Amino acid sequence: MQGKVIIFSAPSGSGKSTIVQHILGLHPEMEFSVSATSRKPRGQEVDGREYYFISNAEFRRKVRADAFVEWEQVYAGHCYGTLKSEVERIWGAGHVIIFDVDVKGGVSLKRYFGDSALSVFIQAPSIEELRRRLVLRGTDSPEAIETRVAKAAEEMTYAGKFDFVLVNDDLDQAFREAEQVVDKFLAA
Ligand code: ADP
Ligand code: 5GP
Repeated sequence: MQGKVIIFSAPSGSGKSTIVQHILGLHPEMEFSVSATSRKPRGQEVDGREYYFISNAEFRRKVRADAFVEWEQVYAGHCYGTLKSEVERIWGAGHVIIFDVDVKGGVSLKRYFGDSALSVFIQAPSIEELRRRLVLRGTDSPEAIETRVAKAAEEMTYAGKFDFVLVNDDLDQAFREAEQVVDKFLAA
C-alpha cells in the first residue's frame, strides 16, 4: 500500500528535530522513519527510537543487500540510511511517514516518492544563528560544531530543490507555518 510521506531536511542546527517533534505530537496518524546509522548514540538516544545504531560493517552489508531507499555518508566516516523495511512497516500500519534526513537524502526521497511526498527545507535565519543554536544545544564538541557549520553553507544551496522553504526564526511562527503546509498537503 502506498501512502503519503513528509520529508524534512536542513543543515544541522536549523531546528529540524524541534519542528519534526512538534508536528508528530499533533498528528497521531504520522510515524517517524527511524534511519540506520553507523555513528554512536549521543546523549539520551535510544536504539530503535532515534536511530538503529549499527556498525560500519553491518551498514555495508545492508547497502549490498539493497536494504536502503537512499543512504548518504553525511559526515566523514558516518553513514545514515532510510530502510525499505521502515517504509513498509509504517505504510503497513496505515500511517503517514515523516523523514528527517540530510539535504541530499531529502532530494533523493522526493525523487523516489514523487507526488506522494511533501519536501520541506528548514533554514536558520543565518549561519551565525545556526552556530549559536548548536553551541546552546550542547550535544556536539566544538570541532563537530565547526564541521557542521562549514557544511551548512553548501547545504543551503539545496533549498530551491524542495517543495517548501521554512525559515525558522521565531519558533512559534515556524510551528504555525509547518502546521499549515502539512495540513494543506494532507488535505489535497
Ligand atoms: P536540527 O535537528 O536541525 O539539528 P534542533 O531541532 O536540534 O536542530 O535545534 C538546534 C537547537 O536550536 C536546539 O537546542 C533547539 O532547541 C534550538 N532551536 C530550534 N529552533 C529555534 C528557534 N526558532 N530559536 C531559537 N532556538 C531554536
Ligand atoms: P545527527 O548525527 O545530527 O543525528 O544527524 C546528522 C544528519 O543526518 C542530519 O541532517 C539528519 O537529518 C541526517 N540523516 C538522518 N537519517 C538519515 C537518512 O536516513 N538518510 C540521510 N540521507 N540522512 C539522514
